Amino acid sequence: MTSKLLDLKNIKKQYLLGNTHIEVLSNIELQLVEGDFVSIMGTSGSGKSTLLHLIGTLLQPDSGQYFLNGQDMIAMSDNERSWIRAHWIGYVFQTFDLISEQDVQHNVELPYLYRNISKKKMSIQVDRAIEMVGLNHRKKHRPTELSGGEMQRVAIARALAIQPKIVLADEPTGNLDEKSSEEILNLFRTLNESGSTIILVTHDKLVAANTDRILTMKSGKLDY
Ligand code: ADP
Ligand code: MG
Repeated sequence: MTSKLLDLKNIKKQYLLGNTHIEVLSNIELQLVEGDFVSIMGTSGSGKSTLLHLIGTLLQPDSGQYFLNGQDMIAMSDNERSWIRAHWIGYVFQTFDLISEQDVQHNVELPYLYRNISKKKMSIQVDRAIEMVGLNHRKKHRPTELSGGEMQRVAIARALAIQPKIVLADEPTGNLDEKSSEEILNLFRTLNESGSTIILVTHDKLVAANTDRILTMKSGKLDY
């Protein structure tokens, strides 16, 4: 047990490419408490997305320890990890990853496919998330009818609707112009102030400067 929300110890991860092992994460140490808003910086290929995938339990480390909310993420079964992903983890990607044939409301409802919850409860949570990102007037619009900044708002609403324990954002402003980036960063700030714990991955110093703590990925480790 641990009182930390997130606790990574001596995490290692290699990829096998042909016959060659590529060591991407050599010794990751990361502890977060509820309400933290941190960024992870690093050059392209330094392992930022790999680390986020590990935290999101989409990928398993080769060795090390990972506790989320006191639960051992490595020891548990695949089914248990799926449950954790559906209930505890909100993911925001650079490319928004919305379904273009579905309107805003249905896109935000997607994570509920993996949850056992009444339609009424879902609808309340989805409405609240759409309201939080300021897109009430766009509920029936499809992604192609929205700006990049608006699409990222939808993705953030989708990540938040389930009220996750942690939000993982991988280069969330990477495809946005300066003004939309600023709006998205302000939105993350507001969400953090209302209690969300956020890890934001970026290679951009100016983006990272909007968070409370900057960690830098270097030679498979995090520098503080
Ligand atoms: P970043 O997000 O910081 O750009 P990544 O975590 O995506 O870095 O990648 C880190 C390194 O691992 C890169 O050298 C990349 O080519 C390699 N890599 C990532 N995914 C795989 C994979 N599935 N198989 C083999 N190598 C990979
Ligand atoms: Mg990446």
